[in-house]
Amino acid sequence: MNILITKEGQQYGPYTVEEVKQYMADGRLTASSLAWTDGLSNWLPLSSVLTATVCPQCQGEMVLQVESPQRSTGILVIVLGILLAPFCVGIFLFFWGLSLISETKSHWHCSGCGRIFPGKVRA
Ligand SMILES: [Zn+2]
Repeated sequence: MNILITKEGQQYGPYTVEEVKQYMADGRLTASSLAWTDGLSNWLPLSSVLTATVCPQCQGEMVLQVESPQRSTGILVIVLGILLAPFCVGIFLFFWGLSLISETKSHWHCSGCGRIFPGKVRA
């Protein structure tokens, strides 16, 4: 698979997986560098692009996508918690908000057929 890298507004590549791993070993790229490969709708951290696995349907390459669906609710609850800080309930809301934000959902996205597979199904 060909991987494009974006860094400070510049685009680099395409590179092969081997080249990218070499650059990571050199320290020129990190796991959080933004990368893109065929079929992705947006740039993802290199770490997720490199963990791509094979689609059970079409043998295409899959990429793990992680999202935090409760993020906006969590922020709202935290703000409410800070406002209500003088009361016991404020502390409770604050920590509840934190746990909502840290809750993440992940799924595999196939770059071949576009299918979505839930969870951590590693081929
Ligand atoms: Zn597929």
